Amino acid sequence: MKVSIIAVGSELLLGQIANTNGQYLSKLLNGIGHSVLEHAVVGDNPERLERVVTNALNNNDTVILTGGLGPTKDDLTKHTVANVLGRSLVTDEQALTYIEDYFKQQNQVMTPNNKQQALVIEGSKVLENKVGMAPGMLVETNGKRIALLPGPPKEMQPMAKNELLPHLLDGEQVIFSELLRFAGIGESRVETELMDLIDNQTNPTIAPLAGTHEVNIRLTANGQTTKECQNLIAPIKQEILSRIGDYYYGSDDIKLEQAVMKEVSRSFAIYDGVTDGKLYSRLQDYNDAHKLKGMLPHSNKFITDSDSIDNRLAIGATIVKDLFETDMGIALLYDDNKVYLGILLKDKLHVQSFNMTQSRNLIKSRTPNYALIRLLNFIKH
Ligand code: ATP
Ligand code: MG
Repeated sequence: MKVSIIAVGSELLLGQIANTNGQYLSKLLNGIGHSVLEHAVVGDNPERLERVVTNALNNNDTVILTGGLGPTKDDLTKHTVANVLGRSLVTDEQALTYIEDYFKQQNQVMTPNNKQQALVIEGSKVLENKVGMAPGMLVETNGKRIALLPGPPKEMQPMAKNELLPHLLDGEQVIFSELLRFAGIGESRVETELMDLIDNQTNPTIAPLAGTHEVNIRLTANGQTTKECQNLIAPIKQEILSRIGDYYYGSDDIKLEQAVMKEVSRSFAIYDGVTDGKLYSRLQDYNDAHKLKGMLPHSNKFITDSDSIDNRLAIGATIVKDLFETDMGIALLYDDNKVYLGILLKDKLHVQSFNMTQSRNLIKSRTPNYALIRLLNFIKH
């Protein structure tokens, strides 16, 4: 639903007051999933107002005006909108009674111009003003809606929220989002890979968010139903995964180590020369099925640095595989600015490496995600 909000009043243009009505209505409408595409401010000038209203109606589904509903000469909003729509103004009996009662209660004589406040656009739905005198109105015409609200915020706000909003909810939009989680890939690489998708996003929107040693992408769709939103998200998700799916480990609330433990069906153990046990302790949190049997920290007692990296990985993985009697042995070693991950399964060693040139501490905290995403891919394939 495309919405234009028009504030009427020369005092706004003179800078005497700020257009807080525009801000209030924007928040209210965005909150129910409508897209507010423009704000306009027009002075108390019928020709210019007519032009702005006509234009706004042509380009939007809903147009909301505030101000200029009062009894004075400069209050010209209803006359102008009635002109644009080719409708006349008629007296709303209920509003008139309300205004007459108001004056009686105040013990005041009603001047003829106050009768004008009970004039509404023919065929409109009258929006009750429980705080002041001028009623608001909502006109539906050719599938478009145009609403007129009073200027004073203390009258406009309850009318917008309680009287107008229920009518704008009928084609209510559902907002649904999915958070895609990636590890072992940097934010800038993600943005480069998805640049064209991000640039052309509409529904769903695509928002990359940097996390701690991981990147998330929030896809948010709006539609009539959750199912419709999911159908809008599905092809974009598929396209994203076709590009960077190797780094994807799950959606929404799942944790990387949780995804690994969910996927693993063999018993395994870790020989850790890089993370000081961090990799083990993260996996251990989700070790409900007891697939992870144990961990041994690297020591020169077991492996000497003179051997080739592949041999060292094979030795480490074999030691833990035998010691803990598992199907799979995993070894992590650091050498020459690289972290090496060796996975020993059925007498075959699978080696992967990734560059890590940061400080010792940063390497320790970053390596688990890089190792876990590779481990996840390995056990999935
Ligand atoms: P009234 O019956 O009080 O004349 P009205 O509907 O004719 O109401 P205006 O005359 O346009 O409204 O404005 C009345 C007052 O409401 C302004 O003096 C200002 O204090 C406030 N107001 C009007 N428009 C806005 C706006 N866009 N944002 C914030 N305040 C506004
Ligand atoms: Mg006024």
